[in-house]
Amino acid sequence: MKKYLLILLCLATFGLTACSQVTNDQQTTEVSKEVNEMEDKVVKTEEEWKEELTDEEFRVLRLKGTEMAFTGEFEKHKEDGIYVCGGCGNKLFTSETKYDSHCGWPSFFEPVSENSIVETEDNTLGKRRIEITCAKCGGHLGHVFNDGPQPTGLRYCINSISLDFDKEEKAKEEAKEKKE
Ligand code: FE
Repeated sequence: MKKYLLILLCLATFGLTACSQVTNDQQTTEVSKEVNEMEDKVVKTEEEWKEELTDEEFRVLRLKGTEMAFTGEFEKHKEDGIYVCGGCGNKLFTSETKYDSHCGWPSFFEPVSENSIVETEDNTLGKRRIEITCAKCGGHLGHVFNDGPQPTGLRYCINSISLDFDKEEKAKEEAKEKKE
């Protein structure tokens, strides 16, 4: 009987150790994921942003302003390339997803990846809208509406001034795809 009890005790101890090992591993993975995400972020004081950006870029990107409709650099822009964040260079949209919505701002039906942007409910101006910010630097980009074309049915309505355009990055990616 004593022998069985001993075996049972051994098994229980082994089980508990294995369990705590799994929990520890999970915790380590979660912590390193958080560290990676933190390292990826661009964190600057508003003073630093002010020095780096033009007054209008600062007003839109950092103070959530809106550029005047039909005045932005990329509203009618049709070149092939990648639109990146004007604050930090994070890749946001490709020219393939840009379309003419006639709303006065550059419009896209899909971001480069769902991790490149953050969506937040915005209840200013007495209406419920979904604000889009850059996932890397938190810069304000615009809003997303559900009146876009297929395949997503979404319209990412983005301030030109929140964007920069990278023609070469697109060509590089295409060349890489051809090689593979
Ligand atoms: Fe950014």
